[in-house]
Amino acid sequence: MLLTVVVPAFNEQEAIPIFYKEITKEAEVLKNSRKDLDIEIVFVDDGSKDDSLNVIKSLRKEDRRVRFVSFSRNFGKESALFAGLEHARGDLIVTMDADLQDPPSLLPEMLGAILDEGYDSAATRRVTRKGEPPIRSFFARCFYRIINKMSNTEIVDGARDYRIMTKKMADSILSMKEYNRFTKGIYGWIGFRTKWLEYENIERVAGESKWSFWKLFKYAIDGIVGFSTAPLSIATYFGIFMAFVAFLLIVFIIVKKLVFGDPTSGWSSLVCILLMLSGIQMFCIGIVGQYLSKTYLETKRRPIYIAKLTSDEGEDE
Ligand code: UDP
Ligand code: MG
Repeated sequence: MLLTVVVPAFNEQEAIPIFYKEITKEAEVLKNSRKDLDIEIVFVDDGSKDDSLNVIKSLRKEDRRVRFVSFSRNFGKESALFAGLEHARGDLIVTMDADLQDPPSLLPEMLGAILDEGYDSAATRRVTRKGEPPIRSFFARCFYRIINKMSNTEIVDGARDYRIMTKKMADSILSMKEYNRFTKGIYGWIGFRTKWLEYENIERVAGESKWSFWKLFKYAIDGIVGFSTAPLSIATYFGIFMAFVAFLLIVFIIVKKLVFGDPTSGWSSLVCILLMLSGIQMFCIGIVGQYLSKTYLETKRRPIYIAKLTSDEGEDE
């Protein structure tokens, strides 16, 4: 039995050697309890600008269990995970971060969930957001609340990308070829039986997080647009509501004119209403625009990533 460890890495030159040491140590531990288990490690170099690729290459020289895919530029973690799953040869596949925020010590338990308990997948979620700016945690919580209201697909709060799955499940993820990838939604969408393990947040061993607030915001929008069409109906509801209010106002004004005559007033309230309505209109057009832009990108059918080099072809260097 082969276990593939898929590791997306973007500018992780300091973290990769530490990660490698930890994961091989854990592999030894695993081998003690399951004799027939071998591992391979697939690093996906997501267009790193630092020395990550060379670090991976030198690991590959010493240890043939290490394989890699190197992208022509930074395509983002979602694309890196896709490439990793594509190149995995194992019967079981685990995806984990290079920064050791996904503790390898959970592996025996995750493996057990599939091999002994018959789950298709074991995933992890963190129950605390310690070491994260409070404002970021706040927005993250809001995001999960909103998206789960709007989408039929269940998207789990605090779910990490640290997950072990069967080959079959990995193949169904690969069958979803969408260009705008929101992995958390994809896992929810394909189904399968998943065991959830909880653990406390751990800070990364080296380097720093690649997520800026703006990047996270865009990621949240991608998630909503990708797995819900509810925002598209907002314009309809606003429209119906506004028409109703307008009708009441018309009745009110007619009655007022009949009873009191017609004193001309209300210029400022008119301007306020006008501004508010055009604001709402712009907002709704913006929503339609979001969906249109995603549709536009999907119809181009661009590849999810472009590999510059893989370990299978780059041996002569
Ligand atoms: N990562 C990647 N491409 C990117 C950004 C991140 O492959 O464009 C990798 C990164 O190297 C790490 C993992 O994704 O292994 C998680 O990134 P990070 O630790 O920055 O995210 P966080 O843990 O803060 O959510
Ligand atoms: Mg991290």
